[in-house]
Amino acid sequence: MDFTVTPKVFTMCGLVREFLAREVYPLEPLLRREGFAAMLPRLRKLREKARQTGLFAAFMPQEVGGAGLSLVEFAYLSEELGRSPIGHYAFNCQAPDVGNMEILLKYGTAEQKERFLLPLVRGDVRSCFTMTEPELAGSNPVWLATTARKDGEAWVIRGHKWFATGADGAAFAICMATTNPEAEDRYQRASMIVVPTDTPGFELVGNLSVMGERGGDWASHGEVSYQGARVPLSNLLGGEGTGFLIAQERLGPGRIHHCMRWIGVCERAFDILCRHAATRELAPGKPLGTRQMVQQWIAESRAEINGARLMVLHAAWTIETEGVYQAREEISLIKFTVARTMQRVIDRAIQTLGGLGMTDDTPLAFWWAHERGARIYDGADEVHIDAVARRILRGYGMRSGEQR
Ligand SMILES: Cc1cc2nc3c(=O)[nH]c(=O)nc-3n(C[C@H](O)[C@H](O)[C@H](O)COP(=O)(O)OP(=O)(O)OC[C@H]3O[C@@H](n4cnc5c(N)ncnc54)[C@H](O)[C@@H]3O)c2cc1C
Repeated sequence: MDFTVTPKVFTMCGLVREFLAREVYPLEPLLRREGFAAMLPRLRKLREKARQTGLFAAFMPQEVGGAGLSLVEFAYLSEELGRSPIGHYAFNCQAPDVGNMEILLKYGTAEQKERFLLPLVRGDVRSCFTMTEPELAGSNPVWLATTARKDGEAWVIRGHKWFATGADGAAFAICMATTNPEAEDRYQRASMIVVPTDTPGFELVGNLSVMGERGGDWASHGEVSYQGARVPLSNLLGGEGTGFLIAQERLGPGRIHHCMRWIGVCERAFDILCRHAATRELAPGKPLGTRQMVQQWIAESRAEINGARLMVLHAAWTIETEGVYQAREEISLIKFTVARTMQRVIDRAIQTLGGLGMTDDTPLAFWWAHERGARIYDGADEVHIDAVARRILRGYGMRSGEQR
């Protein structure tokens, strides 16, 4: 393994760091006090500037408009962007568009790339991903009630989805639906289908209120109803029954992006914690940082963040060298480890700042609420822990237990 920060990555990260300080951090107070929707007009202008850096949607190959970064290179960039809650949005690297771009690039037909991928990479449109259903456990991804049936030259989709991030204002959705219910292998029963949101029968029922935030546009989480939405057969992504295969492809690199973003969150929270500990005096000449309890939070946070970063880089390297399938264990390990590390570091920072940590004067309170979801989306902690432990125990000869 070689995680050397190449001159290219070093320069790129420096550029992004400088851009965040100049253009993005000044926008944060508006986001924290008035929410995402209030910030949108300025975010749109910011994206125009970010585009000029050449690092817009940088994880995409140059031929479709990205910067052609490798997964490991983008991991470093993602950490840098993660230092601000606005960073990924500014550089068109936000979920769920990143994941949708990646699968459209890999599995899309020439027509699908032209119609759906290129506008997404340019940042002209947004998209959403509709997989989770309110009535069935999202942790069991083979259990889907949504169906897509062939009718002449069209798929007809019926079903109920929720938590479709960014559905409000999205130009299209990628829908996970059962197309082949009779397939013997339950992992080959579902497919992904691209559905323009202006298709009759696609209904955005509303935005969920999540942690007190009703969202607005990009940051929303939508409830979606497919009521016989008809799309051409050519909107199928990949082959019939390949939905889970593609989902795995989508979630592997997606977890690297998320985890490195969370490490960026950790670094900024850690920085806020340390600055406060070094300067806030409990009594004249007695800064908070002289207390062992705070010193322990600092040292433990430093160790945990460093360890988490190496784990993610290792997972990214494994995906790049051996493929997503071979990296399943590494991906599960980082998903729950980094999410928990982030939560602990934010919590320690809030505790160190006392009342100030609860205010919206720093990004800590925003992250405390908004990043709680990290332990739930893309597979709850317990799902990943369960998967890792089963795999390990199989190596010790354990054979019992149902497997998903
Ligand atoms: C902020 C956010 C954004 C999201 N964005 C999207 C999106 O864009 N598109 C989309 O389709 N979905 C999205 N989701 C949905 C997300 O993927 C699901 O919430 C997640 O997969 C869990 O499914 P569930 O909510 O149905 O919980 P359930 O499956 O009902 O699980 C509930 C709890 O059961 C426990 N559990 C589950 N399995 C096990 C196990 N094996 N062992 C022990 N305990 C277990 C876990 O603690 C889990 O939290 C998003 C969710 C959030 C919070």
